[in-house]
Amino acid sequence: MKCIVCNSKTKEIFKTKILSKYDVAFYQCTSCEFLQTEKPFWLKEAYQSSMNLTDTGVLDRNLFYSKKTAAILFSFFDTSGSFLDFAGGYGIFTRRMRDLGFDYYWDDPYTENLIAKGFEYKKSKIPDVELVTAFETYEHLEDPLETTEKLFKISDSILFSTAILPDPVPDPPWWYYGTEHGQHISFFRVKTLRKIANIFKCNLYTDGKDLHLLTKKNIIPHIFITNTVYELIKSLNFSGISRLSKSLIAPDKEKDFYFDLRNRIIFQPTKFMSKTHFSDMQEMNQKVFQYLAANPDTIFNIAKNVLKRKTFDDMLELQKRINN
Ligand SMILES: [Zn+2]
Repeated sequence: MKCIVCNSKTKEIFKTKILSKYDVAFYQCTSCEFLQTEKPFWLKEAYQSSMNLTDTGVLDRNLFYSKKTAAILFSFFDTSGSFLDFAGGYGIFTRRMRDLGFDYYWDDPYTENLIAKGFEYKKSKIPDVELVTAFETYEHLEDPLETTEKLFKISDSILFSTAILPDPVPDPPWWYYGTEHGQHISFFRVKTLRKIANIFKCNLYTDGKDLHLLTKKNIIPHIFITNTVYELIKSLNFSGISRLSKSLIAPDKEKDFYFDLRNRIIFQPTKFMSKTHFSDMQEMNQKVFQYLAANPDTIFNIAKNVLKRKTFDDMLELQKRINN
């Protein structure tokens, strides 16, 4: 069996029972370390309900990821843009992100949109999507490259969650193998994600645990004036950061940093920046991403206050959409 990500050789590492009845072999790639099951012949049975009914963490996880996502979107992306939650299930995440003030849409070919009705994604209506989210989706994919390609046709940036496969590979039962529901068939290492980023010629930022960003954009962090983030950035000894303290005194567009109306410091790549600065930028993005994924609260609270949408306004928007 060849690796479905990088086409290298794989090695069978164990067999385990799926859906309490099928003996299924798991193969690991000798190059990118991706772990895949044998061809999943049991999926029809596994998806008798499209939602995994044993998923008791669904609400908690949506809240938890909405915080992280809000902090990341607010720090790296244009918050006035439109966003899509791919494989968005019942619409919980979409509704939550709309409540926070993001223009979010839902898409899921297999599940009924229960609570984000009126905000179904249609390419013709929303041609520009700033970023797509795909939570707890990649481990379900029979062909992660095909789905990644499809998502990159919608947006230049994909923020997704999937638990990184520990090293050494855990013996079953490991909770993430999900053998009782049989829906998890693909397991990734950071090395696998780097391979995917190489294939699509994009950048990868990851918290190394479960949250990952693939982006074709040269993203620039809007660094917020919070002591923790400021100290973090200073501690990186980033070569372009020396002007930070000066720009904290007053807005000055001639400088590398300035305040914008939302009281953010925006880092601007300028003529002063050499190529070395850009490799530093990637390192900085990675550190900021990792920081936000682990400590979303401060930025999440800023985002919530800045973007706050009146629920009533969104209700009017919803009524307009339903009437059309
Ligand atoms: Zn591979």
